[in-house]
Amino acid sequence: MSFCCGASMVGTKGTLKHYRTQVHNVPLLFCPVCHRVEVHYKVENEYEILAEYAHGDGVTDVDFQDYVMEDEESIFENVINMETEDPLAIVRSQIDMSLDLLAVAKQIGDTKWERELKKRLAVMSQRRHRLQQKA
Ligand SMILES: [Zn+2]
Repeated sequence: MSFCCGASMVGTKGTLKHYRTQVHNVPLLFCPVCHRVEVHYKVENEYEILAEYAHGDGVTDVDFQDYVMEDEESIFENVINMETEDPLAIVRSQIDMSLDLLAVAKQIGDTKWERELKKRLAVMSQRRHRLQQKA
């Protein structure tokens, strides 16, 4: 578990900028309280190497996924414990977080990430709807 501001950080994927190079699909941790975004500690070294290498080559866009094949579940396990919490509360907090990330994506002008987040939001609001009907 990673903590920031006393809240547990949430795992996600996004784009980071290293000088002029944009690195896409980097596993990140996001603080729902202060909105701090940091590279997931399990891939910190890989990120630095790839970002430096791409920057040195003058590449403007690089996809982290093409270089680092890390199993997503192993990266994000233990980040949030889904089972002990109320599913509706989890969906609500995931929606809130995606909305926050959407603002970040818009800010840095990452339209691909924006699209992915909007898709995820649509799925999650359906799930929220279903959970609310059950309750
Ligand atoms: Zn924080």
